[in-house]
Amino acid sequence: MEKLITIAIDGFSSTGKSTLAKQLAKRLSYIYVDTGAMYRAVTLFAMENKFITSDTFYFEKLEKELPNIVLDFKFNIDLGFAEIYLNGLNVENKIRSLAVSKQVSKVSAISSVRRKLVIEQQEMGKNKGIVMDGRDIGTVVFPDAELKIFMTASADVRAERRYNELIDKGDNVNYEEILKNVVERDLLDSTREDSPLIKAKDAIEIDNSDLSIEAQFDQIYSLIQNI
Ligand code: C5P
Repeated sequence: MEKLITIAIDGFSSTGKSTLAKQLAKRLSYIYVDTGAMYRAVTLFAMENKFITSDTFYFEKLEKELPNIVLDFKFNIDLGFAEIYLNGLNVENKIRSLAVSKQVSKVSAISSVRRKLVIEQQEMGKNKGIVMDGRDIGTVVFPDAELKIFMTASADVRAERRYNELIDKGDNVNYEEILKNVVERDLLDSTREDSPLIKAKDAIEIDNSDLSIEAQFDQIYSLIQNI
């Protein structure tokens, strides 16, 4: 396939969006952008500055600081994907903690946060040749994307995947707590006013509860061959 396209991958949390996106970007030599990492990095900034705690959220303070939040992706050759930097510091590990997961949906519901990040995402994808994953890529960021995928899987399967990821990293986590977070985040993300998580009309829905990573990749890759 010669022509460069835009691939938008949206869906519920822990449905394996980033695994698929990384595989496609590698095979096609495209750029991969994990937009969840951007919302997580802004959340980490808000937490580190005490703008958000478990029971308070001074979102006006965060809004005022938005111009001072600089996000960059830098490719890590050893890992084979780009890691996120917040104001010059690599925060790839920190943003994946359960503490950040618990706050991120509150931060991502703020319109000014979304406006800033959507502009940056559109800039990164302006020349196509990009795979981007998130919640609003096919609906808001790239409504004209040539390929839109919407991923789902049962909550149990998703919580188990996230649990195993965190355990592999050495985090001390509890399965029930992860399941609760996955369900809560999906509810908040799907019901927020600005850019809720919904399937774009022209997106292809994939339920991968019982689909292997390889089978899923083959299925999507064959779709791309026909674009
Ligand atoms: O993809 P990930 O689970 O890392 O995303 C973390 C959170 O970031 C989501 O639960 C959602 O609140 C927010 N997000 C978003 N829009 C995107 C990507 C992520 O609101 N495009």
